Amino acid sequence: MSAALPSYDEAAAIVSAQALEAAHRTPQIERVELHPALGRILAQPLHADTDQPPFARSTRDGFACRASEASTHNFLQLAGASRAGDAPAGPLPEGHAWEIMTGAPIPPGADSVLMIEHVETSGDMVRLLPPRTIKPGENIVEQGAQARKGDELLPVGSTMHAAQIALAATCGHAALDVFRKPRVAILTTGDELVPVSSTPGPGQIRNSNAPMLAALVKSAGAEPWVLPTTADTAEALDAALAVAVEADLLLISGGVSAGKFDIVEPALARAGARFHFTGVRIQPGKPLVFGDTSLSRADTDQNQNGTKCYFFGLPGNPVSSAVTFLLFAARVLGALSGSRDSGPRFALARLATGSGKPGKSDLTRFLPAFCTFSASLGQLPEVELVPWAGSGDLAALARSNCFLVVPEDAGRLEAGSIVRILLP
Ligand code: AMP
Ligand code: MG
Repeated sequence: MSAALPSYDEAAAIVSAQALEAAHRTPQIERVELHPALGRILAQPLHADTDQPPFARSTRDGFACRASEASTHNFLQLAGASRAGDAPAGPLPEGHAWEIMTGAPIPPGADSVLMIEHVETSGDMVRLLPPRTIKPGENIVEQGAQARKGDELLPVGSTMHAAQIALAATCGHAALDVFRKPRVAILTTGDELVPVSSTPGPGQIRNSNAPMLAALVKSAGAEPWVLPTTADTAEALDAALAVAVEADLLLISGGVSAGKFDIVEPALARAGARFHFTGVRIQPGKPLVFGDTSLSRADTDQNQNGTKCYFFGLPGNPVSSAVTFLLFAARVLGALSGSRDSGPRFALARLATGSGKPGKSDLTRFLPAFCTFSASLGQLPEVELVPWAGSGDLAALARSNCFLVVPEDAGRLEAGSIVRILLP
């Protein structure tokens, strides 16, 4: 049965192909100020409004000079002084030096800056201490060395982190055009679920997936839209889906396994779904469902993606939901956001202790693990499995900071072996 299911790589390729298609539809654009631009996706390329830096400037406190003169070690007379914020001054007369502070414009005629730590001063005279010499260009950043006026500094689709925000500020942008965040409906299903504020009765549990998925969606730069929890009946699900498909992406938690009350797939089919896969050879997360559906109504105001709503039916177990979100839903979400850089992030690490007995051989496994990133030079980060009691073990998930990837057909992974990890 499971042999007919796509492998992790095959499923990832299917999701990537759909994500590429989704990326062709440009999201709507809105203008935001610089601070709220954090995490947003740039909708217009960012250009340099002037040369960067706008003038040749000193990178040191010291003395601007001609390198050939300073390297003779003769004393040079001071002809002036400039500090950061001063207008460019000069020119520098021959045989002279110019006192200068970090960030100040270089006086014309000077080709280098002596560091204050490398000179001897005497009254208004300064000389480079032998045996040190200096070459033209030292301790100067030339005008336009970082960028020329009009250069594209950031392309459309860049994520605005701290450095990108600083770059926008330096180019004079107090506000930026960014893509509207995709709206992600979160629909949790299950008769056993009670709200967080309730005390569960016999056989009941609190709904932890709704806040977890909302947090994952927010971390991915999208807008969570948490819908009321739905009972495991066809009627309830049909009614919920009719509303939920107005989103750009729909995450349905629970109800996709093979049990009697796993009624999500038939409900999606009734809602006109096209399924791209129904199950993947991974653990946890094997029952994952991926597809898209069209809106029956013309009103696409809330949906940025034309009439299409992508959906994932995530297995209800918390670890399964988290892993399948990171592996697959994040990729589609990135595309819907207009991001250039989305999808699961993997890294290499060294396994600290062996992986225990091998699991089922035809599944790629993603096991909660903890990676210590303080690697010294030439050493990979060390990763260790977090003991867990299966895909419902939220406590293990919360103690982990990554997932160890165990390839299909891998036997026991030995301590010291190089492994892949999935990063959150
Ligand atoms: P299901 O995928 O609906 O078969 O659920 C698999 C397991 O995940 C069951 O033990 C459920 O009780 C649990 N589960 C389902 N939905 C949630 C949720 N929203 N929060 C926490 N656990 C859940
Ligand atoms: Mg269920």
